[in-house]
Amino acid sequence: MRTQLADFIKDTAEGKEAEDIVRRCVHCGFCTATCPTYQLLGDELDGPRGRIYLIKQVLEGVEPTRSTQLHLDRCLTCRACETTCPSGVQYGRLLDIGRGIVEEKIPRPAIERVARSALKHGLTSKLFGPAMRAGQAVRALLPESVRAKVPERQSAGAWPQLTHARKMLLPIGCVQPSMSPNIDAATARVLNALKIQAITPRASCCGAIKHHLNDHEAALTEVRNNIDAWWPYIEAGAEAIVMNASGCGAMVKEYSHLLRDNPAYAEKARRVVELTRDLAEILAPHAETLGTLLQSRKTERVVFHPPCTLQHGQKIRGVVEQLLRQLGAEISPLAESHLCCGSAGTYSVLQPELSMQLRDRKLAALHATQAEVILSANIGCITHLANGAQVPVRHWVEWLDSGLA
Ligand code: SF4
Ligand code: SF4
Repeated sequence: MRTQLADFIKDTAEGKEAEDIVRRCVHCGFCTATCPTYQLLGDELDGPRGRIYLIKQVLEGVEPTRSTQLHLDRCLTCRACETTCPSGVQYGRLLDIGRGIVEEKIPRPAIERVARSALKHGLTSKLFGPAMRAGQAVRALLPESVRAKVPERQSAGAWPQLTHARKMLLPIGCVQPSMSPNIDAATARVLNALKIQAITPRASCCGAIKHHLNDHEAALTEVRNNIDAWWPYIEAGAEAIVMNASGCGAMVKEYSHLLRDNPAYAEKARRVVELTRDLAEILAPHAETLGTLLQSRKTERVVFHPPCTLQHGQKIRGVVEQLLRQLGAEISPLAESHLCCGSAGTYSVLQPELSMQLRDRKLAALHATQAEVILSANIGCITHLANGAQVPVRHWVEWLDSGLA
């Protein structure tokens, strides 16, 4: 698509990046077929091609409206459209730029400002843990809509105490330690079984929550703080940065792009991205060793829900399924596995109706497999699906850890 950038953006790095992305789009519409919001709403402007067109107009100087903002808000940022696109359009990056401009031009109603601010500050605050524990203590008394966001209290089990020559950094995110502490502990135990020591820097958000709520400056502050916190461990020889929440992994893998023009951080960010691996990428080469460490257990029929941030964001497809199969799981094929479950970070709070429709559609597909357990790779998806699932929903590393001798 040809674009004629408006004066306010044409000489900026963002403008040039956006123009390059829009130019790649040949308007074929293949992406609309795999877009969850287009499937639900059937409106061109609630599909990727329509949203690209809306952003192009804004870049060319057309004043956005509340309606423009609504169509961009309804996007899950699932990036299924990027997987489908034959022209390599980096829709996610274009959406970030478009949303940022629209956010500055269109004031939001007070109720939206309050909700977005509460999410931005509440989820990443040090008070989130105590608030979650208080909610868990009275969970049975909570209204259904709140209870859905408060998983039952869980024991994490023992954290391994052994030291090993091989060390990897395991960043502890903002919500996962309070919502499902066993995921990090299970990761550390599995790594320990492979004689790898998990080192945890101080807990903090990867920046994704603020970034996707269009507060790009605040997100960049978190990104720089994380690099500062991780850098001493990298210099001391940590061989990888392990991400066990695919949403955080997708964000951290963007650090070098986000800081590419920052002379103090560009090189460090590049190194951080070079070291960052999803847990499946770390464990897949060790399948044989892990297989020997597993206690024999009855073959369990499991189904894996691949989070969008894993399959579309990080382009990691089939790796977890292959590993689980090698470890003796019987993996049930999942229909519409490319579709988002509706969790999408804060989307389930900000767009509850669309989110619930997608959750119910995903659960129907998962239940149709008759699997005994649903496995996934991101805390958001796990919590979202667990509230409504007829079988347990767990992180796949918890399933693996529970079988270790
Ligand atoms: S990111 Fe997902 S919801 Fe947004 S346009 Fe692309 S496919 Fe549709
Ligand atoms: S599939 Fe790619 S090129 Fe085709 S309309 Fe969608 S974004 Fe544009």
